[in-house]
Amino acid sequence: MAAVIRRLVLWDVDGTLVRAGDIGGAVFDRALEAALGKPPTGRVRMSGKTDPQIVREYLDLMEIEEVDGLVDGVLRRIEELLSAAASSGELAAGGEALPGTAEVLERLAADERVVSSLLTGNIAANALLKVAAFGLERWLDFEVGAYGSDHADRNLLVPVALSRLKSARGVELGPGDVWVVGDTPRDLDCARAAGSRCLLVGTGRYSAGDLALLGADAVVGDLSDTAGVVELLAADLA
Ligand SMILES: [Mg+2]
Repeated sequence: MAAVIRRLVLWDVDGTLVRAGDIGGAVFDRALEAALGKPPTGRVRMSGKTDPQIVREYLDLMEIEEVDGLVDGVLRRIEELLSAAASSGELAAGGEALPGTAEVLERLAADERVVSSLLTGNIAANALLKVAAFGLERWLDFEVGAYGSDHADRNLLVPVALSRLKSARGVELGPGDVWVVGDTPRDLDCARAAGSRCLLVGTGRYSAGDLALLGADAVVGDLSDTAGVVELLAADLA
């Protein structure tokens, strides 16, 4: 089966597949307070950034010098807090899967030429918790994804996923065989950095109208047009 895989679709998580709700930001506040003894003095804009990048921006905001192990310690605490929120049902109760996501992922999973995985700023554990809270995990091959825990620079993540596809599934694809699906200019940047195509979705902080100005390969308001989105992402796979 592996030999027929021709397309890798890399999905962003927040604002693209799911909306995690208030808990997504609150775990950063709580983890920083636990690690530093005081809460953040403001909120860092998180859209499109990797988790380690967000933690470093918080440390800058709080004028705290980054010392060895501090960022990793905060990230571990964030993972514990999100895991607890997933177990208690708080994550599922406060968030949602975005329109059309389950249908598109299910349809793509039925096409053996296509693998869907994640490309997200979330550390891997949190990405899994967030999609699983809304039942989307069954259509995603997490092992070949790329995460904020792999690199703080999102623009380096498409090659990480491609090398995992090769090592874990024995499939060698190039960046031109990849679609990145996301909700921010940063998702487009990381696709362009790799030479991959990009679909932007207006379900996060940016409207489809704003995203349309960026020059992505395609822009939609949301993913509810199942046939149209599947056709786009599985195009030219004769
Ligand atoms: Mg996003």
